[in-house]
Amino acid sequence: MNKNIISQLNIEYAQKKDLAESRLIFLKEELEKKLPEIKLISKELASLTLNYCKNIVGADETYSSQLNAEYRDASSNLISKKNKILKDAGIDDGYYDSCYECLVCKDSGYISIGNRVKECKCYTQKKLEALFGKSNFPLLKAQTFEKFDISLYSDDEAAKKNILEIKAECEKFVSKFTSGASKNLLFSGSPGLGKTFLSGCIANEIIELGFSVLYLPASEMLNIMSRHNFFQFNDGVNNEYDDFKYNFIFDCNLLIIDDLGTEVISESKYSSILSVLDSRFAADSARICKTIISTNLGISDIFERYTERVGSRIVGNFDILGFRGDDLRLKRR
Ligand SMILES: [Zn+2]
Repeated sequence: MNKNIISQLNIEYAQKKDLAESRLIFLKEELEKKLPEIKLISKELASLTLNYCKNIVGADETYSSQLNAEYRDASSNLISKKNKILKDAGIDDGYYDSCYECLVCKDSGYISIGNRVKECKCYTQKKLEALFGKSNFPLLKAQTFEKFDISLYSDDEAAKKNILEIKAECEKFVSKFTSGASKNLLFSGSPGLGKTFLSGCIANEIIELGFSVLYLPASEMLNIMSRHNFFQFNDGVNNEYDDFKYNFIFDCNLLIIDDLGTEVISESKYSSILSVLDSRFAADSARICKTIISTNLGISDIFERYTERVGSRIVGNFDILGFRGDDLRLKRR
């Protein structure tokens, strides 16, 4: 199953890259129509390079350095001429940017760092969505800060003020994310107050910034972990598919654990939660590794349900945002 998902994804990327290349050719042709001198200069550059390549073969040292110098001067002359024409026409370096969905990998899905080839973040995120299935991104795509509607909340002014402050904190989380300065967030409060909605808004913005985001209900996260541990302890054949899911809980730039407190709890699950939190806190010093937890529990309930050890990890490492207004419900339109 995992192999199918990955090969399907690779096909998608190959198509995406083809599309980007045809858009690039189209834009180039448009530009050459508008500025015919550009086409002439490109031709001159091509023939200059061709001649240089022909002549350099078999040339002695003195002649080579003469050829190199001539080629360097002539080509840089042409390039500056071309750049000046582009600049005068108001065309900047970003002219071809619209060809690509992802500027980082130019829609190839991969980037080269030195002589290493690495998956682009956009590819990782797509793989994640494909492997975890749409069920894990149920409402997220439609959730944006722009769609946040204060009029859906009741007339309780204190509750309105509370939710607006929380929204501002969420936006601050997003704006500081790239610099690594965002704090982990704990959303605590009764159901129906917009916790999942705001998690979705954050997720969308962070994905847009090019980071990997995993949204998982606590029960599912813990199931993935127990499954992984079960296979490990039993020397079973653990497949790449499961490993990817498991590893991603630790590796993604933003993990959103939804609905903590609704899962059936056990001793091994306490330690799973601890290992996720501790490992992510430690990783955060080397790369961006933030966590958002959403729960219907209050702080004292967390201490009671998850023991002192888990409770103190959360209180010490998360900014706690209390969603208030028990009798307040989001009106669904
Ligand atoms: Zn990319």
